[in-house]
Amino acid sequence: MQAKIDAFMEEVRARNGHEPEFLQAVQEVAETVIPYIATKEIYNGKNILLRMVEPERAITFRVPWVDDNGKIHVNRGYRIQMNSAIGPYKGGLRFHPTVTMSVLKFLAFEQVFKNSLTTLPMGGGKGGSDFDPKGKSDDEIMRFCHSFMSELFRHIGSNTDVPAGDIGVGGREIGFLFGMYRKIRNEFTGVLTGKGLTWGGSLIRPEATGYGTVYFAQNMLETKGDSFEGKTVTVSGSGNVAQYATEKATQLGAKVVTLSDSSGYIYDKDGIDTDKLAFVMELKNVKRGRISEYAEKYPSAEFHKGKTPWEVACDIALPCATQNELNGDDAGKLIENGCICVSEGANMPSTPEAIAAFHKAKIFFAPGKASNAGGVATSGLEMTQNSLRYKWTRQEVDDKLMQIMKEIHSSCLEYGTDENGYVDYVKGANIAGFVKVADAMLAQGVV
Ligand code: NDP
Repeated sequence: MQAKIDAFMEEVRARNGHEPEFLQAVQEVAETVIPYIATKEIYNGKNILLRMVEPERAITFRVPWVDDNGKIHVNRGYRIQMNSAIGPYKGGLRFHPTVTMSVLKFLAFEQVFKNSLTTLPMGGGKGGSDFDPKGKSDDEIMRFCHSFMSELFRHIGSNTDVPAGDIGVGGREIGFLFGMYRKIRNEFTGVLTGKGLTWGGSLIRPEATGYGTVYFAQNMLETKGDSFEGKTVTVSGSGNVAQYATEKATQLGAKVVTLSDSSGYIYDKDGIDTDKLAFVMELKNVKRGRISEYAEKYPSAEFHKGKTPWEVACDIALPCATQNELNGDDAGKLIENGCICVSEGANMPSTPEAIAAFHKAKIFFAPGKASNAGGVATSGLEMTQNSLRYKWTRQEVDDKLMQIMKEIHSSCLEYGTDENGYVDYVKGANIAGFVKVADAMLAQGVV
């Protein structure tokens, strides 16, 4: 079996050798899905996985824009349309200087499996730009978003491809992008999700990824009759996902003691309660400040420059910042300090070495494509409401989100439980996500 996996990876590497993040994501899927394919006659000889690693379409484009001093800048825009076998392409836009084709292809590939897991009819895509929103004025952000959409618009549509937010793209950016799309197309349609509540957005969408990550962890803990009550939780990041993961974990009776950004992490031994979280939301979403300012405001907190929170003892860890932010050494520290559960809010935050360590220690580990799928699932619910021209209540959307997370958890159990009862959620998520897309591809022929 290993020879088959190696041969497959060799072929993928020959075409994509300069794309490390993409290869990392494909390797993880290949290791779990290829042995499964070997047991299923219907998939044999159909080269389905090889077809799935090649984007249906990958677009790059120029994004010129003018700063407040009249200087002209040029960034690169991307949209990867990975797989539309089960529905229109769906996936976020990331604005960050580290954005490359490799990063977006890994995200788009993971998105195909994640969207399949949600039970909703959505294909997978991802896009963005190497533009850095940090330190830019609102006007500069607006000009950049307008320029970005003046090209992207011809590749997307409410039945073709529906982008959303990701790192560096929140409500403000979605507003500017939507405004330009509406103007150029002369139509008001659900072409983006994460919209404002007065112009087509869904209740609970901003909360959904963070809430869903905690709901998934709760589902895992419940299999052993455990819960968040009284637990100490470490969270990384301090953006959208981290904020709402903190909120939900706190509501469920846990104490969240860390948050971070790219400059370091804060540790608050007393816990980040509702008032302190409101300060973080204002700091990050309105003032666009740094997490170190939290430690200046609250004497119970310390700021650890240039470090990640995984050295802090906790019961539950929720990585919610970015890819490869938790390595093998970090995993070792978490396990040594008694961590029993890791649920990924970010995409691929744990390195392969970290995942191997979690599996070896037999603690709960949920990969992002399962545990953070609540965000895109609620985007799917936003699309449904847009099509219906209707709006569900907060409770209705939250109930649907909870139900979807439960179903994703059950799918992982179905395909990931080993003979000793340990659940490999990576294997479970990869196979469950694969089956639905593969069956659709089989039915539709070689296209
Ligand atoms: P935000 O832009 O709101 O926040 C990102 C956070 O991560 C910030 O605190 C940022 O710090 C930190 N961060 C970003 N890059 C790095 C880095 N290289 N090293 C350390 N910290 C970093 O993004 P989101 O919260 O939306 O996204 C976070 C993660 O969740 C991403 O992996 C994203 O793909 C994933 N995700 C998001 C979904 C959503 O609905 N938003 C859905 C599913 C997954 P700083 O300000 O210093 O850059």
